[in-house]
Amino acid sequence: MQQEEFDSLLKETRRFEPSEEFRNQANFRDPTVYDRARQDPEGYWAEQARHLDWVTPFTKVLEWDPPHARWFSDGQLNAAYNAVDRHRLGPRKNKAAILWEGEPGDSKVYTYEMLGREVDRAAHMLTRLGVRRGDRVTIYLPMIPELPIAMLACAKIGAIHSVVFGGFSSQSLKDRIMDAESKILITADGGWRRGRVVPLKANADEAVKGTPVETVLVVKRVGEASGAALTPDRDKDWAEEMAKSPTTPFPAETMGAEDILYLLYTSGTTGKPKGIVHSTGGYLVGANTSMRSVFDLKDEDIFFCTADVGWVTGHTYVVYGPLSAGATVVMYEGAPDYPDRDRFWAIVEKYGVTIFYTAPTSIRTFMKWGPEYPKRRNLSSLRLLGTVGEPINPEAWMWYHEHIGAGRCPIVDTWWQTETGCAVIAPLPGLTATKPGSATLPLPGFEADVVDEDGNPVEPGRGGYLVLKRPWPSMLRTIWGDDERFRNTYFGKFDGIYLSGDGAHKDEDGYVWVLGRMDDVINVSGHRIGTMEAESALVDHPAVAEAAVIGRAHEIKGQAITAFVTLKEGVESDPALVDELKQHVVEKIGALARPEEIVFAPELPKTRSGKIMRRLLRDVAEGRVLGDTTTLADPGVMEDLKARYAEKE
Ligand code: ATP
Ligand code: MG
Repeated sequence: MQQEEFDSLLKETRRFEPSEEFRNQANFRDPTVYDRARQDPEGYWAEQARHLDWVTPFTKVLEWDPPHARWFSDGQLNAAYNAVDRHRLGPRKNKAAILWEGEPGDSKVYTYEMLGREVDRAAHMLTRLGVRRGDRVTIYLPMIPELPIAMLACAKIGAIHSVVFGGFSSQSLKDRIMDAESKILITADGGWRRGRVVPLKANADEAVKGTPVETVLVVKRVGEASGAALTPDRDKDWAEEMAKSPTTPFPAETMGAEDILYLLYTSGTTGKPKGIVHSTGGYLVGANTSMRSVFDLKDEDIFFCTADVGWVTGHTYVVYGPLSAGATVVMYEGAPDYPDRDRFWAIVEKYGVTIFYTAPTSIRTFMKWGPEYPKRRNLSSLRLLGTVGEPINPEAWMWYHEHIGAGRCPIVDTWWQTETGCAVIAPLPGLTATKPGSATLPLPGFEADVVDEDGNPVEPGRGGYLVLKRPWPSMLRTIWGDDERFRNTYFGKFDGIYLSGDGAHKDEDGYVWVLGRMDDVINVSGHRIGTMEAESALVDHPAVAEAAVIGRAHEIKGQAITAFVTLKEGVESDPALVDELKQHVVEKIGALARPEEIVFAPELPKTRSGKIMRRLLRDVAEGRVLGDTTTLADPGVMEDLKARYAEKE
């Protein structure tokens, strides 16, 4: 018996209304916004788009020739002008744009005026080095100010940046350089991570061999400690080249709204990364709007997004979103546990952070470490918390709410993807009641739904495919160099409807609950179980910090559940605990989801962006050779897991 929909098992009934105090001050506090946007989505987006400065105002809003959308196509603008220069002309001129904190404890403040001068200089420098409008510039930097400066300088020239996360290997960097055909690479001599040097320059030297790269621009970050040397003719020192560049303003290139702003590769959780193409106008509208709506940004806020700029979250919520909205953004270079496990909270205290945005993987790590670390610091400046990257387990949500938010801060669980460019399903914190584990409702202007195999909306409580039925401004335009893959991946299943690849269900209130990746769905005796619910049942147990469940081939049931579990610090694993955990899952969600086996593991395999890679766990459980591991953060974890899996009773 084949059953196409998920069985929704977990019952979560906690509900948190926005406080009156929060609601009264919220940017989006008029509940009719949803209806207005539903009745006239193009009107809604046009209204939002007017928060940007356009060189030539748009007259067209949307042209939709599925699967290709064009937004604001006759409008012209420049993204760097919007993110920096326009603020230099007004009262924000001397406002802090970036509060940067290095891992060793050094720090720098850039006002909008200072940032603008640096971006102008960098734009002059890149132009002198031969970069022209439309060229691809690969950027492989640690979390230092030169990273946003380089991106914004590209944007100012009209060059397309392709940022590669600094944690990637030389091979991954090379693949992305080759795919983008970049002639220039911007890197650093190294970066700091847990007090050690990340050998970016050595990786870059290896990566550029046999690629079209002619120039490597090197920022000195670690100096002596790197041991890196410049290759004559090819390598240039960032500081020297900057010093040679004029201090005069660089005239922003006038770009069409549909011109490409950047390429960015997805995290590679489910397979080979895709080079996602983002536009200038629509992307910036999405980024800017969500700052005001989801993050309720005010001029007084100090916004701290912990994501690396190498991921889309960093592009949208460290660089283009906050800066286009004139915010003060905190940017931190290093690890959350250096020199101690309270580093993020020390940063919140030091700068008076008001809005804090992180990932479930981090929150589960904080849970594992225990609440004594945030307790050491004064977190009373916080007023809003956010999460992104994976479904958040309700217990992790509660922990965040209690130990970081002191029960006072709304939590915005934001569902989105590299492909969507900005948050899509998330609360409006002044209007939307939240439920732990649900990203709540589609934002105004988005039409997200959960549908069955035939594309029909499923009933409440039934799971299906999470789709977007209408184009939105910041949607990907294509996959770089592979429009065919773009069509097949996102529009191949339902005509004109965007397929996200995630499974979800909606509850009676229309709230969306992401159940996990469609690729990871477990099928036990014909019942389809999302990974999120089984994992959340495990994380609900007081001994468990983190869990990953997979379906392993099973003769009778089709698939059986194998759970990999990380315990909280100080908890001992023993056979009695195995039985207890299995029983806990049965109590929380039913016998159907009872794990066949539980393997204790100090670490789970994750992407470099911190997401659990279940496909590798399936490979282990089914005794296969591991699939693509290039995006795996720590290859050592897999060896350890294989050994533990072999040893389990
Ligand atoms: P790849 O597409 O290469 O496999 P990836 O999907 O991990 O990699 P991203 O674009 O960084 O790459 O991640 C988007 C995915 O992250 C979503 O499709 C979803 O599975 C997950 N995700 C992000 N935010 C949330 C959230 N708030 N709740 C649930 N899942 C989320
Ligand atoms: Mg994806």
